[in-house]
Amino acid sequence: MSLLFKNIIIRDLTKVPVRFKNHKNHWSVLRKKVEPKDKALTYFDDFYATIYGKDWNFIREALMKEETKYVAVINNLSEPERIEQELQLRGALNLKSVYNIYLQSNKNKEKKVADVEIKSEKLNQIISNVQMTKIESSLPEDYNVSLKTETSLKDDKEKSDDFETQINVQLRSLEEDLQDYEPDLERIVDLNDGNAALNEYVPATQLKGMEDWVLESDHYAFYDKGADFSVMSIEEQVLLFPERLKVYTFEEGSKERFPSPKKGAAGVSDYFLFDGGSILPVLALDVRPGDLVLDMCAAPGGKTLAILQTFNPALFVANDISMSRVNRINKVLNEFLGEIENSQLFVTCNDARSIEDIDLYNKILVDVPCTTDRHNLHTDENNLFKPSRLQERMKLPELQMEILTNALKIVAKGGTVVYSTCTLNPIQNDGVVQAALKNCWEQTSHEMVVKDLSVALSPLNCLFKFGNYGLKHGHLVIPTIRKNWGPMYFCKIMRVK
Ligand code: SAM
Repeated sequence: MSLLFKNIIIRDLTKVPVRFKNHKNHWSVLRKKVEPKDKALTYFDDFYATIYGKDWNFIREALMKEETKYVAVINNLSEPERIEQELQLRGALNLKSVYNIYLQSNKNKEKKVADVEIKSEKLNQIISNVQMTKIESSLPEDYNVSLKTETSLKDDKEKSDDFETQINVQLRSLEEDLQDYEPDLERIVDLNDGNAALNEYVPATQLKGMEDWVLESDHYAFYDKGADFSVMSIEEQVLLFPERLKVYTFEEGSKERFPSPKKGAAGVSDYFLFDGGSILPVLALDVRPGDLVLDMCAAPGGKTLAILQTFNPALFVANDISMSRVNRINKVLNEFLGEIENSQLFVTCNDARSIEDIDLYNKILVDVPCTTDRHNLHTDENNLFKPSRLQERMKLPELQMEILTNALKIVAKGGTVVYSTCTLNPIQNDGVVQAALKNCWEQTSHEMVVKDLSVALSPLNCLFKFGNYGLKHGHLVIPTIRKNWGPMYFCKIMRVK
């Protein structure tokens, strides 16, 4: 009896028969394995559903699609005419042409509306004149009635002239902008009013009992740093496409994709491909001939390449904190520009928070590290939602704010800073902008304004879905199935004094 009992114990401890082990696809095995990209999805589902409401479902669907759309930026150092022809034959559209067509059509629509309003006002005037004549004829001859016909027509003419100037969108200098400096009160953020406070986005109660989310509460405390400070905003009417920048895309909903670029006769690649949203911060930066440009977080170099394709900068510095990533910038530059000797182009490896070239650059791009939402839903490699990267992820807004604060401090007077991320997270977007502007206001005598690009971007509504969702400073490209770009948030800030 005791021998039998002993045998049983020994068998149980040493050998579990293979037939009792669960297969690797068994639910109990699968359940335990939560990959970083699953964690990312759970996080986004919880957080973004509270911000984007039911729209989160279609955004999520678009983000989960592996196959995204790209734009092609033509390499002017290859054979741009041939490349453009080839792309056009595939049905690709020049983004600048699309922009101009819609800009014109928007102007025409506005003009038509204005014409109709003016005509109906004139008609009303004529009707009332007729009525007045009838009334007059029925009144005694010495009765005094003023018809004001001439004045009304003159008013109409003035209104129509005013409208002409309004819709005649022209490129304006900074000085002109400043003369007409009129803050857009709609976009002034006073976080004390409670409406715009980002800490509303996730109720604190949701954070309790969830290990990762408790730390998340730090984000809200962080956002509070910007809470008692207002920011001025001015509207910009038009996006300037640099003359030599050629960006191609396929129309909304098109299944067409760009083939991988080949090398042309000059030995450099024909074009480079990136998410269509990424071209918008570059356009917002508005690099003009002679500009001194700093790309603070430049690796792997997509936006650097786009800026260089304008051939506008008199000086261009592409910087990144990581040496291995700086090597990637050099590799990309080699592939697209070849071994060019260029005394105006520098690649540096510095922490953007401590760059001290005060008042040197008049254009600074701040394309910060972020939760890279789309990327983290598709790969476990290097995923920020790995438990080992938790601290790094939690500290992102602070890092972003410090980088942007430094950009705002060093940018030259009259210069522009564009801040961008590829996340839907409002804390890393408007929240960081707000906190950095406040830091700048406290620590310098600079006067900064935020540029409201809503009107300037509107001709691109045919290709991009811009979402508002309570944003006060920046603009957000929302991924949808038919317009599957982004997410890309960008905010244009100008130092006016
Ligand atoms: N602008 C790039 C492009 O279009 O290809 C993408 C930039 S990526 C979103 C962010 C970059 O910021 C990373 O390459 C990262 O190494 C860099 N970075 C992170 N912290 C930094 C810091 N303190 N200073 C400078 N660069 C930093």
